Amino acid sequence: MDLAIKTSIILILCYIYAFIYSCIVLTVPLFKNLRIQKSKTPMRLLYRRLPLILFNMTLGVLYGFGAIYFFRDYFSSTFPSIWIFLAQLSILLIFDDVYFYFYHLLLHKNKFLYRHIHSIHHKASAPYPLEFIYSHPLETSISCIGLFLGYVVIYLIFGDISIYTFWGYSILRIIHEADIHSGIKSIIFKWLPFYGSTQHHDSHHSRLNGNYASTFSFWDKILGTKITDKEQSDT
Ligand SMILES: [Zn+2]
Ligand SMILES: [Zn+2]
Repeated sequence: MDLAIKTSIILILCYIYAFIYSCIVLTVPLFKNLRIQKSKTPMRLLYRRLPLILFNMTLGVLYGFGAIYFFRDYFSSTFPSIWIFLAQLSILLIFDDVYFYFYHLLLHKNKFLYRHIHSIHHKASAPYPLEFIYSHPLETSISCIGLFLGYVVIYLIFGDISIYTFWGYSILRIIHEADIHSGIKSIIFKWLPFYGSTQHHDSHHSRLNGNYASTFSFWDKILGTKITDKEQSDT
């Protein structure tokens, strides 16, 4: 099967996972009780926000399909050694994450950008998993720039990009984004050193005055934007 089609299927499956996870978080009493913020987020909010979420999902699938279809000569269909795979994942993680921090900071500090673009994402003060993709389509699109730079660097260093790196990073990113928007205390990601937990991003949504990092939460510590009250002592 064509690599671009496989990529689309993988992305759709990831979004279906986030949808199912959202339904569980919003309806199963056990999960409702595990939410960090005790304020109720009703299921109807998921239905109400679904049109924009579906639109952004479609964009995500089209971008993934287009990236592999139009740039297929830059991708290899073989799995490299595990070390090269991990090195390529790390490069993506670093470029994507550094870019995201400063891009996100700008979206908050610039009043025009906040009011017209980023405020849509912040309609969610107590988010559920799928709300990672509830944002202005322009924000969704521009957020890919860091990732694009990462792929350019991988190509320059390795001569090609493994499709497994593309798939692996896409899955990792969507699972992590769904986790930090779940409102449920992180179970897996909190054990990864420096990794952003749900508590970290949940407080960004509830407080709006810090915790701009996504994956590596240490950026907030280094750059003085960490929310430091005792509510966040376990992040
Ligand atoms: Zn924000
Ligand atoms: Zn968010």
